[in-house]
Amino acid sequence: MATYKLFLLPGDGIGPEVMAEAEKVIAFFNAEGGARFETEKGLVGGSAFDAHGASISEADMERAQASDAILFGAVGGPKWANVPYEARPEAGLLRLRKDLQLYANLRPAVCYPALASASSLKPEVVEGLDILILRELTGGVYFGEPKTITDLGNGQKRAIDTQVYDTYEIERIGRVAFDLARKRRNKVTSSEKHNVMKSGVLWKEVITALHKREFADVQLEHQLADALGMQLVRWPKQFDVIVCDNLFGDMLSDVAAMLTGSLGMLPSASLGDVDPKTAKRKALYEPVHGSAPDIAGKGAANPIAMIGSFAMCLRYSFGLGAEADRLEAAIAKVLADGLRTRDIAAPGEATISTSEMGDAVVAALGGAQAA
Ligand code: NAD
Repeated sequence: MATYKLFLLPGDGIGPEVMAEAEKVIAFFNAEGGARFETEKGLVGGSAFDAHGASISEADMERAQASDAILFGAVGGPKWANVPYEARPEAGLLRLRKDLQLYANLRPAVCYPALASASSLKPEVVEGLDILILRELTGGVYFGEPKTITDLGNGQKRAIDTQVYDTYEIERIGRVAFDLARKRRNKVTSSEKHNVMKSGVLWKEVITALHKREFADVQLEHQLADALGMQLVRWPKQFDVIVCDNLFGDMLSDVAAMLTGSLGMLPSASLGDVDPKTAKRKALYEPVHGSAPDIAGKGAANPIAMIGSFAMCLRYSFGLGAEADRLEAAIAKVLADGLRTRDIAAPGEATISTSEMGDAVVAALGGAQAA
């Protein structure tokens, strides 16, 4: 039986609450016996700062490096608002992304039919939506140097951020996009602003050449990032995989997120390269939402984003596509049955707790198996 090492980093606020529900799903699959998931737990964010004075300890970084995949909850909260900058809760997540070179951020935007009315767009625009935004995560303007604010001495200051991309960075994210599209509806939309940015010119050139060389069977189109923003809210179902740089991806993935209703529904994956020695890909899976201090400890958090992140882990780290399909079908069934946590309930609708939602997904999984 295949054995997979999962490193769990629940974090702060609702992180541990939603992680507990993902652990029920992991226990279900272990009990079923198709594959064995070994779990180990560490500290990240504010909880790590309280224990070690750092947002993640060196020992936990080593465990993260040695694992087959990381499941991450959420970090942050008012309690740690004044800790030193380098020990702030987010620093733990940024360190993981950087040290593991997790350059490909996958954010699916899937609208379950039962939740189409929760979107701010018309139900017919979003019902059945299933698109994937792929954001380059380790390069571009967030990291480029120089990155400075200079006092010009005349009462003015000058701020500089630098957008930098090398060919290899564009190629490797492009390759992930085309590979993903082949497993979906075979279409990639590449987005940049080649009309005003040199990095956009290179981005378009590299993606076009890669497509011609290795992925001519996949449909490729280019859209300027501003136009794509409009198209995303006009008719999002025209897309399959959208690939873009760090800055545009940050914005466009948040727009796409809102198409589907609630933050509590959105999973994500961050992938690195395949290690040629082990044939394994470094990967971290996390809900898009934060630690939600406003509802922490109240049993009100929606665990579906966290459970959906584990479904992505099954699919992208372990090649367990059938198990991922079953888990996603179990989530869809629970929603179709009308079960709602507070964030996805219509006004006046009955709601269930975090742990009741986790139990319902596990029960639906059992049902899916028996069917
Ligand atoms: P947030 O995502 O924590 O919460 C935004 C709103 O969405 C809140 O009203 C919250 O109650 C609700 N919400 C979020 N997740 C939910 C869930 N699973 N179920 C039901 N409702 C949910 O964002 P925020 O309030 O801007 O930030 C809170 C803290 O989280 C801050 O410290 C921030 O820095 C941190 N944060 C961490 C991450 C991360 O760990 N990756 C991401 C974003 C924000």
